[in-house]
Amino acid sequence: MIEAFHSPASAAPIGNHTMPMEKFQLVADRAAKISGIRLLLPAPVTREDLLRVHSEDYIHAIETGNPRPLAESQKFPWSPQLYPSVLLTNGAVLAAARSALAHGIAAAVASGFHHASSQHGEGYCTFNGLVITLENLRSAGAIRTGAVLDLDLHYGNGTASLLHHRPWARALSIYGNDYCNNLSYRDISTLHHTDGPNHYSVPLPAKTDGPQLLELLQQNLPRLLHPTPPDILLYQAGADPLRDDPYSPLDLGAADLEARDRLVFEFARRHSIPVAWTLAGGYTRPVKKVVDVHLGTFRAALATHGS
Ligand SMILES: [Zn+2]
Repeated sequence: MIEAFHSPASAAPIGNHTMPMEKFQLVADRAAKISGIRLLLPAPVTREDLLRVHSEDYIHAIETGNPRPLAESQKFPWSPQLYPSVLLTNGAVLAAARSALAHGIAAAVASGFHHASSQHGEGYCTFNGLVITLENLRSAGAIRTGAVLDLDLHYGNGTASLLHHRPWARALSIYGNDYCNNLSYRDISTLHHTDGPNHYSVPLPAKTDGPQLLELLQQNLPRLLHPTPPDILLYQAGADPLRDDPYSPLDLGAADLEARDRLVFEFARRHSIPVAWTLAGGYTRPVKKVVDVHLGTFRAALATHGS
């Protein structure tokens, strides 16, 4: 049985926004009907969890709405519901990671928030649930090392910045588009990211297709295994690389993304690495196309880890 964590209260009201907030409930509703998937409610992360990763000033801004530019640095209108909803979003990632440590694989029907850095939000991302999760597990003694594989369409700049001072963690971001300092860069050749000793980036050329993506994954996934395989892998299974997505310059269909997910889960299984996945981005309309891609990730998980 694969556990999937989702809270209906994790969707704060943000008005008519590029980000289709309804997708999380739609994915949860469909996943709940799949044999072999059990939907569970996550607990919120705590202030202590946030403080391991984010500054006190930024947390205060999200909690109170002041100062407003900081409280809206993630590009969502602030509301009193934002803070409790984000605690639940991050809580879903933490709960999925704990479940993965126990059972091998689990899902967070939530975003990882890979653009969020220590002092501010960015690109619809408030608190970085990926690094919050790794920090929580490490301080609890549940892991010594952790890794993030980011296959959202966009480069995971917040995660990379947060790993500078966390040599026990590592991240690999394979991306076809960029969003940095709240600006989007459709042509990724205009912005070059500097890799660190524990964070690596692989830009995808425009028009990258399914076979090319799988080949690049085969080449680059082993980088996550050094110096030792991580104690947990957090996987951002983005739906925005889809060719129909308004931000995607790639040539990837839903079946290509399901093959991607399957390859990632097979890699984790082969190396005995527990893996928890998050939904990450997806902006295709109608939203059903995004939901279909996310359901493909569930099918891939059942194919590789279902019993
Ligand atoms: Zn994205």
